[in-house]
Amino acid sequence: MEHIDPAVISRFDTRSSRPCEFCRELDPQFRERRPPDQMVASNRKAGASAHLTEDGYVRHRMLELRRIASRAPLTAA
Ligand SMILES: [Zn+2]
Repeated sequence: MEHIDPAVISRFDTRSSRPCEFCRELDPQFRERRPPDQMVASNRKAGASAHLTEDGYVRHRMLELRRIASRAPLTAA
């Protein structure tokens, strides 16, 4: 979990974290995630790296990429 600041992990509690709004909106399986995988650190800028767990981070990135892929037409570069 190199991308996650250990200090954020140690501060993981209900006061310093909240469910990720981005994931909650875009991931149909959001509620099936383990609770830590739903949470982002509230003292961080919203984004994949705000997630507290590796799994949460990866799922967030996948949602982002899927959204980008669905928007960008596949044209020859
Ligand atoms: Zn997220």
